[in-house]
Amino acid sequence: MTPVTKRDYYEILGVERNASVDVIKKAYRALAMKHHPDRVPAEHKKDAEEKFKELSEAYAVLSDPQKRQVYDQYGHAGFDQRYSTEDIFRGADFASIFEDLGFGGGGSIFEQLFGGAFDLFGGGGTRRSGRGADLGYELEIAFEEAAKGLTKTVMIPRREVCADCRGEGGERISCSTCRGAGQIRQSAGFMVIARTCHACGGRGSSLKKACPHCRGEGRVAVERKIHVKIPAGIEDGMRLRLAGEGEGGTRGRGDLYVLIRVAPHPVFQREGSHLIVEYPVHLPQVALGAEVEVPSLNGRVSMKIPAGTQSGTVFRIRGKGLPDVHGGRVGDLLVRVVVQTPTRLTGRQRQLLEELTKTFDGSA
Ligand SMILES: [Zn+2]
Ligand SMILES: [Zn+2]
Repeated sequence: MTPVTKRDYYEILGVERNASVDVIKKAYRALAMKHHPDRVPAEHKKDAEEKFKELSEAYAVLSDPQKRQVYDQYGHAGFDQRYSTEDIFRGADFASIFEDLGFGGGGSIFEQLFGGAFDLFGGGGTRRSGRGADLGYELEIAFEEAAKGLTKTVMIPRREVCADCRGEGGERISCSTCRGAGQIRQSAGFMVIARTCHACGGRGSSLKKACPHCRGEGRVAVERKIHVKIPAGIEDGMRLRLAGEGEGGTRGRGDLYVLIRVAPHPVFQREGSHLIVEYPVHLPQVALGAEVEVPSLNGRVSMKIPAGTQSGTVFRIRGKGLPDVHGGRVGDLLVRVVVQTPTRLTGRQRQLLEELTKTFDGSA
């Protein structure tokens, strides 16, 4: 078959662009009934399958407000970049439609068409997905730790495949209800209706003797020590992915996502890789100019304040900020000079300021 340009989803379902979800559902139900591959004569089955796939995809997208919005905004080109076929079908409600049509959960038709890759119908539908779940972990680190980078050791509670039974849950025998097929087929006129076998949940086998280690669950709860390598310059809210450190499954492990929280610093603030510090000075220092020592993350740094500096002026000291987490240039230290107005004066200070005032108003 030659590749053809994908048709517009609204056109496929024959609905207006502003159609409500209800209208979309109704349109899909009617068309799915008409083109269901189990309902057409054998010689038209292939065409019906293609048509049915196209309809189901259009329905999956347009019945999901978020996917629909992306499709409306970007069309097929932008949409297909963002969503895989699996993403498109994830979360779509097919179960209620096919139950209404008398196709049970409807899982079997999707399994035939898409090779059983998706678990569209929850536990009652296709076979179990074997990949372990992804895990999340929130890790708070100090401001200085974020600046320098470090390796943190954390304990992660997770479930792993039971080593004793390799996830099988124990000794298994072929399911007697479905004879190991995982589904039951029934003929009704020219239709063949397939349903998931409820006796074994579609697995095709049942437990004969439960594994004593995992009590038949196939997985066990463990606590694992994980070393999280945190790169220097990491920012608050960044997420580190540790591939394969999530939960265990019979077909591979999930990933662990570590959300980094950087505690605020009492003195420093940051903006990307730049470090910001406020430095209080006295009036004579900015009026006459001064050489001062300002704090940085690696001790004090000397800085010149030129005579006549206004309060609020920001000075930049290059390369004294934070490392760039992506390996770019080290940031700068930005020093904001703030003139402190004295609130408690000694007699001498008061006298000097009064004399100074007179020089400004011309009375001396
Ligand atoms: Zn076991
Ligand atoms: Zn069975």
